[in-house]
Amino acid sequence: MRASRYHLATLKENPVDAEIVSHQLMLRSGMIRRHAAGIYSWLPLGLRVLRKVEQIIREEMDRAGALELLMPSFQPAELWQESGRWDHFGPELLRLTDRHNREACIGPTHEEIVTDIFRREVNSYRQLPLNFYQIQTKFRDEIRPRFGVMRSREFIMKDAYSFDIDKDGMQASYDIMDQAYIAIFDRFGLDYRAVNADSGAIGGSTSQEFHVLADSGEDAIAFASEGDFAANIETVAALPPEIERAAPTKSMQAVDTPGMHSIDALARGLKVAPQQCLKTLIVEAEEDTLIALILRGDHELNTLKAERLEGVTSPLRMAQRDRIKQILGNDVGSIGPVGLGIKSYVDHSAALLSDFVCGANQDDKHLQNVNWGRDCEEPAVADLRNVVDGDPSPDGNGQLRILRGIEVGHIFQLGQKYSESMQSKVLDVQGKTVAPYMGCYGIGVTRVVAAAIEQNHDERGIIWPAALAPFMLVICPINYHKSESVKAAAENLYQQCVTQGLSVLLDDRALRPGVMFSDMDLIGIPHRIVLSDRGLGEQQFEYKGRRDQDAQELPLAELTALLARLGSEPCDSSH
Ligand code: ATP
Ligand code: MG
Repeated sequence: MRASRYHLATLKENPVDAEIVSHQLMLRSGMIRRHAAGIYSWLPLGLRVLRKVEQIIREEMDRAGALELLMPSFQPAELWQESGRWDHFGPELLRLTDRHNREACIGPTHEEIVTDIFRREVNSYRQLPLNFYQIQTKFRDEIRPRFGVMRSREFIMKDAYSFDIDKDGMQASYDIMDQAYIAIFDRFGLDYRAVNADSGAIGGSTSQEFHVLADSGEDAIAFASEGDFAANIETVAALPPEIERAAPTKSMQAVDTPGMHSIDALARGLKVAPQQCLKTLIVEAEEDTLIALILRGDHELNTLKAERLEGVTSPLRMAQRDRIKQILGNDVGSIGPVGLGIKSYVDHSAALLSDFVCGANQDDKHLQNVNWGRDCEEPAVADLRNVVDGDPSPDGNGQLRILRGIEVGHIFQLGQKYSESMQSKVLDVQGKTVAPYMGCYGIGVTRVVAAAIEQNHDERGIIWPAALAPFMLVICPINYHKSESVKAAAENLYQQCVTQGLSVLLDDRALRPGVMFSDMDLIGIPHRIVLSDRGLGEQQFEYKGRRDQDAQELPLAELTALLARLGSEPCDSSH
């Protein structure tokens, strides 16, 4: 490709509304453009990367025996009513009505459609196992679309659905997909982890997420220092401490704490550690009352754990300030267990404290040296918090470390949920009708592109792993439009690359070298060759890898070997 004929649409300035690096760099390098919240076009440069991601996925899915098909975005409401999800999906499902007043939705996922296909097409165990997949556009009306294509409303997903006659078959299909995902993410060249997404599953898993590791990741994942425990923090149990609570040493005392509404402000104001303070969160209860969830000041509430507690609403709803004021009589910043008068659950670690600080249930007042059993009731103890660095691993092997990740894939055993609700049946060996066992397997294709950048960039721009790079090599001739010999050498090299099937960009725009180099660094092309009159005069060219600090001068005689090396790197042969 010649840069003069290509739509290179780089921007100098950081777009103001782009919060994370990948979003900034995708806009600045001219990969995507925004039309509305969470709605993007992919420009030619971005599409090249997207297609590489798709191609790797397609090759590995095909290799794993899955069959590609293409299902519609527009989905009739009837199918969703059959599965029961029409009423349960919530506002992420974009519903609409056509000119005949028929209800429909724009598909956020395709379990209903694929089950409908299956029940029409397949009727015998002989046709199983079967795995249908597609690479297709999804729409989810996300409450907070953000970070560009990382969490957009319209995005591309690879979704696959397996069908088996029994549970063992479902497990086997799931294991095949697990292996295919490993092959796919290995080929992307990204640092990733497969983590358990089941709560408390010991041995075998029925749901795993694949995360690209990056500090900006929305998810926290916990890894054990020994053994292979790895799970999304949402699902990880915090083991109850094995030590006993210390005896009280001081008597309870009220203190004025004006303006100290957060744990940080309180800890600073009273000169105590945050882990010596209680954090009392008030949530809505099923019976139109409130429930208190009490944690140590330095811990965070785990929503999934809270939702499982008796009486707590699911989804969890934090109580609004005025409702708290109305029912409890004071403000959110000064609530505590002493004389609280509503049902409370206390996290194990908070229940272990003695001589602690907590809200006094009076505005601008806290209590110091409070003790369970003496100053307030012995608590109803539960596991409420997210695990933190250093907690023991729930499987007993070592300690947990927390890393951040971006969820790019999810594999999941569905069982008979859809085949039963949608009356999909096949005949088994004995001629009995059975509802098949399903699995579903997603990859956020567009999100993979953003995650790759989030993990691989520097202050100058994107650094593509070879397998995803829009171009493998850029040729930068200095004075292409002024020097005949530079032009001839550049054209010659370009032709040689094209002939070899190398994905190459020739920067034949009349740009100053500095501008040309910074464009190419921003776009993140892995390899750069510079040709100049001076270099050619000395029978040399300049080579620089995108991650290298400095360029190297190499003899022209080594060009062929360099091209051969680049040609053997993992990339496709388009140019
Ligand atoms: P999340 O927790 O990030 O909302 P999810 O659990 O809703 O993800 P799935 O339904 O499992 O996601 O979808 C499969 C994959 O699709 C996810 O692993 C993710 O990579 C991708 N994905 C989901 N929602 C979005 C979105 N709004 N924008 C881009 N990709 C998405
Ligand atoms: Mg979601």
